[in-house]
Amino acid sequence: MNRNDTLAALRERPDIAVLVIGGGINGISVFRELALQGVDVLLVDKGDYCSGASAALSRMVHGGLRYLENGEFKLVRESLVERDRLLKNAPHYVAPLPTTVPIFDTFSGIANGAVRFLGLTRRPSRRGALVIKAGLTMYDLFTRARRLMPTHRFRGRAETLKTWPAINPDIRSSATYYDAWVSRPERLGLEMLFDAIASGHTARALNYTAVAASDDGLALTDTLTGEALPVRPKLIINATGGWIDLTNKAIGADAPRMMGGTKGSHLIVDNAELHDALGGHMVYYENEDGRICILFPYLGKVLIGSTDIRVDDPDQVRCEDDERSYILQSLAFVFPSIVIADDEIVFRFAGVRPLPASDDSFTGRIPRDHFCEFVEASGNLPATLCMIGGKWTTFRSFGEMAADMALERLGMKRNKSTEDLAIGGGRNFPADPAIWCTALATKHRLAVERAQQLFERYGTSAVDFAVPLAADEMLPQSDYSSGEIRRIIEREQVESLADIFLRRTTIAISGGLNLALIDAVLDILAASKGWDAAQAAAERSAFLGLLAHQHGIDLSDLSQTNDKRSALCA
Ligand SMILES: Cc1cc2nc3c(=O)[nH]c(=O)nc-3n(C[C@H](O)[C@H](O)[C@H](O)COP(=O)(O)OP(=O)(O)OC[C@H]3O[C@@H](n4cnc5c(N)ncnc54)[C@H](O)[C@@H]3O)c2cc1C
Repeated sequence: MNRNDTLAALRERPDIAVLVIGGGINGISVFRELALQGVDVLLVDKGDYCSGASAALSRMVHGGLRYLENGEFKLVRESLVERDRLLKNAPHYVAPLPTTVPIFDTFSGIANGAVRFLGLTRRPSRRGALVIKAGLTMYDLFTRARRLMPTHRFRGRAETLKTWPAINPDIRSSATYYDAWVSRPERLGLEMLFDAIASGHTARALNYTAVAASDDGLALTDTLTGEALPVRPKLIINATGGWIDLTNKAIGADAPRMMGGTKGSHLIVDNAELHDALGGHMVYYENEDGRICILFPYLGKVLIGSTDIRVDDPDQVRCEDDERSYILQSLAFVFPSIVIADDEIVFRFAGVRPLPASDDSFTGRIPRDHFCEFVEASGNLPATLCMIGGKWTTFRSFGEMAADMALERLGMKRNKSTEDLAIGGGRNFPADPAIWCTALATKHRLAVERAQQLFERYGTSAVDFAVPLAADEMLPQSDYSSGEIRRIIEREQVESLADIFLRRTTIAISGGLNLALIDAVLDILAASKGWDAAQAAAERSAFLGLLAHQHGIDLSDLSQTNDKRSALCA
């Protein structure tokens, strides 16, 4: 069902069983759970799907080594189970990531850990080798029964410096263990959404649709046209992450404060020396102020983060200049000889961790676990189930928990589990991708390299993108084709350039944007939407404004630099 059909159906019949508000990874997860049980469920997001925290994560699929020192053993165990499920259910996007912790002390952290255990301090301290050893041993114990990846190992100073010659020479030793990373979290969320919609006739979803209280209950507003439509759910699920309190207020739910979100920012850096210095590992290190920072190779660039700052309004967050400096300073601590030039920062992004309300003075100590709470019905408003907290890694178990509570309220029973359910292009994943890609190339008359590229982007759904190159064309200064972008626009609920460049593809985050490409994609999008020249120009300038304001990309400067470079080359 396309957007117009969904809106038309709602105009005719505003009654639904469950309204999920929020199309981040957790909203999509509970939506999928309910759709699979045959529940009449509608998901709405005021923006695009996976445009909030679910596009701002550090892209780690992890147990959370750090949470062990907060005593969150249940969460770490659950996260490791979910991490391992994702390695199997979404192998096209989730992959093992060797992770190395540089160690500068042997004993430190032990006394502080004990004091913190007794509740005498919340202050972080440097973590020495023994504390790290204890954490990694526990990690290995939790995954012993499945053992999908190698156990941890330590390296002495000499071996560490030999393996990572650019690392801070004050290092004493290092520890390497395995976690995982997700290359395209936004696409994984979208694939799950489309899987859910395809699973029957009871699940519908609308992006760019806001919800608020109206005179006779609740109303949806199509933010693209301004049209308002009444909606009458039996149950609401508030899955709006950092916006939970604002949403409860907007729909008129009488709820206490639930959210105490913190902002985190990241940089994407295009520096070959740094990329190569990592040797394919994530470096998971402690900054001089005791905060954990990370950096790892990401789609040919390096992802570095993050910050942890309390915020009230998730709509206003972006990576500010002081955060950029903080992140670069932290990098200089671990790789002191590597200097990052301004124009090597190709993308910045920020989002709000949906943490439960807490008065803890150290944001790193706020619990990372998730839970659900009902706000009971009052007046015209049905009961609202609020999903509070939650990491990206645990979206499945969190969605399952919320769905079970919703099913109980609706008097329904679960008949399908998502534990072993492959997602999107992770279905029928080949044991040998090389053979699969060669077969795809032969069948669709593609170069093998192109088939491999499509497989890396879409997993086994690459089949849907396999347009013979003779009937397709590559877009300017890009390795995406016009056929690929057309298919994305036609089938993936695209409404703007930002949807394409920021969430349906990794073009922006991997530093691949340029004006020629934006204009070529705009032509395709405008033709598909029937936009006139003024609408297309407005879309172009809105997108360039967004890039400059939110992501630190000023393409007018870039185009001048490119022109200068071409002139020099000529
Ligand atoms: C800096 C940072 C780093 C992180 N790193 C990791 C990591 O490496 N690994 C990991 O597992 N987790 C990580 N996380 C946590 C993870 O990203 C989040 O927990 C997860 O994405 C939250 O998803 P969500 O669906 O609850 O919220 P969101 O993704 O924020 O979704 C909420 C949605 O609600 C919509 N919305 C808001 N108000 C309304 C309304 N009134 N009507 C309709 N829609 C509305 C928003 O538009 C948004 O799309 C990180 C988070 C941050 C911020």
